Amino acid sequence: MKHIVTIIRLLFLVLFVFLLATSKIMLWFGLFAVSLLAALIFGRIYCGYVCPMNTLMIPAEWVSKKLKIQTQKTPKWLINGYFTWIALVVSIATMLLLKKFAHINIPILPIWLAIAVFITLRYRPVIFHNLICPFGALQRLFGQFARLSKKVDKTACIGCKLCVKVCPSDAITVIDKEKKAVINTALCHQCTNCRQICPEEAIHYSKAG
Ligand code: SF4
Ligand code: SF4
Repeated sequence: MKHIVTIIRLLFLVLFVFLLATSKIMLWFGLFAVSLLAALIFGRIYCGYVCPMNTLMIPAEWVSKKLKIQTQKTPKWLINGYFTWIALVVSIATMLLLKKFAHINIPILPIWLAIAVFITLRYRPVIFHNLICPFGALQRLFGQFARLSKKVDKTACIGCKLCVKVCPSDAITVIDKEKKAVINTALCHQCTNCRQICPEEAIHYSKAG
């Protein structure tokens, strides 16, 4: 399963680069809009499979860990969660204003791609995914209504927390009293990391709620 997910991610990365190289990157926004509607049914599959930022953040995190420069800290000014929405409004406003008054198409996607990689060289991926990414803010908004999502079978879960350690978006909580994992659909990227590692095969993709 891991290899299939990686191949899908790389194919979308190639598509992203192709659209960028052929000056058709605006089509990516169409793909993103479709992904928001898809999130209402399938969850945040854009984040887990399609997003070029996520695809490049994976090797960036690997490098960060190898060089031992990753910190577990969260910048205090990000904790309240407002920044991700501010980033969204500023990005859209900058794009529209520069287009209208200066006839410039600002390369907003490559800029955010560079920011994502840069941030991930220092901070855990969850910092960018949950507290910075403007696209993630919209995916969270739509993803919370997903009809299908990763779900934990409470009768099988032993509360080992292995899934918590591999989740890139801090979507899993193990309730100490019950010793059972719970997945937050709004935060889940549907990436399958948790499913792959769960020793009890307790995680399935099924009806959310
Ligand atoms: S890895 Fe599986 S068994 Fe362990 S806490 Fe997560 S869902 Fe439960
Ligand atoms: S590890 Fe599991 S819970 Fe976390 S984002 Fe991936 S699929 Fe969702």
